[in-house]
Amino acid sequence: MNPTSFEAMPLAAPLHRVLQELAYTTPSPIQAQAIPLLLEGRDLLGCAQTGTGKTASFALPILNALHGTTGKNRPRSPRCLVLAPTRELAIQVGKSFTTYGKYVPFRHTLIYGGVGQSPQVSAMRNGVDVLVACPGRLLDLIDQRHVDLSSVEFFVLDEVDRMLDMGFLRDVKRIVSLLPPKRQSLFFSATLAPNIVELAHSILRNPASVSITPETTTAEKIDQQVCFVTKESKRPLLEELLRGQANAREQKLTIVFSRTKHGANKLAKSLCAAGFPSDAIHGNKSQAQREKALDRFKKGLTPVLVATDVAARGVDVKDVGLVINFDLPNEPEAYVHRIGRTARAGAEGRAVSFCSEDELEYLRDIEKIIRMPIPRWDNHNWHEEALAERHKKGIRGPAPKKPQGGGGGQHRGQRRPPQGNSGQRQGGQGGQGQSEGQNQQRQKSRPAGNRGR
Ligand code: AMP
Repeated sequence: MNPTSFEAMPLAAPLHRVLQELAYTTPSPIQAQAIPLLLEGRDLLGCAQTGTGKTASFALPILNALHGTTGKNRPRSPRCLVLAPTRELAIQVGKSFTTYGKYVPFRHTLIYGGVGQSPQVSAMRNGVDVLVACPGRLLDLIDQRHVDLSSVEFFVLDEVDRMLDMGFLRDVKRIVSLLPPKRQSLFFSATLAPNIVELAHSILRNPASVSITPETTTAEKIDQQVCFVTKESKRPLLEELLRGQANAREQKLTIVFSRTKHGANKLAKSLCAAGFPSDAIHGNKSQAQREKALDRFKKGLTPVLVATDVAARGVDVKDVGLVINFDLPNEPEAYVHRIGRTARAGAEGRAVSFCSEDELEYLRDIEKIIRMPIPRWDNHNWHEEALAERHKKGIRGPAPKKPQGGGGGQHRGQRRPPQGNSGQRQGGQGGQGQSEGQNQQRQKSRPAGNRGR
């Protein structure tokens, strides 16, 4: 039977303590299913996406095993290896280990390409319990004898589908061949295509399988819409939507997503000035600040919360009737996660995404992963028919130059004249600064020869 609380799980005291501090009371479905199996020492084949709580589902049992036995690590020889396809994921997993392992005296480090290798080499020389690595740079360091995988007790392959999309199959197979046969192996993928299952069975020993229905299914209760607009029109359109929400009878709360921390701050401030009580939450705010903002939001004191993806993870508020993607996320999975902040606890919800010219590619990626076109909503004053047409026809690249003084799209009402730069690939509100989690660089589009090294 799957435990319905963390308290019922036989985890070490330092882990219960941190879970209490994080206010994690209920395990997510993957945690409830996977943690007991992993604590028994089983291998695991998990079908789950990011956002389901899968990191804690493997980090907690691993930290539980390391607890009380740390300090045994030999130089260059990690006891746990987590393989991740991208540097962003590696950093995120590393942070999760830091968070969940706050009271476990373990050592961990990250290995990924694109940065100097010296700090990674010296961390390995000092010895680590947990190594989170991207395949390319890891193999480089193994070849230079800075890393030795013969003492690995726990091996985690995270986001295998992405790993294969990025052409890492050979690298993964080589890394697996360097692991000792006696180990516990965990394999996570968002999809289980036949080639992925085949790879899993070549790595795992009598694995337990856990499959979490992706959040996309909850999207059925969400009324999704996309608005094609210029960057300049996003603000007035946002205000129009917020006015409607303020007059709603129920489910008055709105979450507005911004790609960057700076954008979130700026937006919250200007919305307050325009008479919409708002607050921003993002990774630069302290836990206490975030909790306070969330509390005020839940109580309806600030009915608009401007959030970045990182900060919005785990936000579970019942009365969110509207999610607005002021900026489209550059990681399509984040879209599913964002819109899932509405339609919680059986309620219905609406998700409106603003798409400006520089975001057409993001929209295409999102529609690919949700496997449906997002219905367009153009019954507002700022609709850009030309953009909608470009999206429909799948046209990439910059728009044809607009004639001086002429508008590019079809406008039903008044709007500010174009500022002259609406065709440039700049960040707009969201493009100032880096996206939170440093995800600006789209891993998918990186040339194969440059992967993670
Ligand atoms: P992940 O799928 O591992 O990226 O986790 C998504 C987010 O959910 C994490 O950033 C955590 O903050 C949050 N989270 C994970 N497990 C729980 C839980 N049991 N209760 C509340 N939040 C959680």
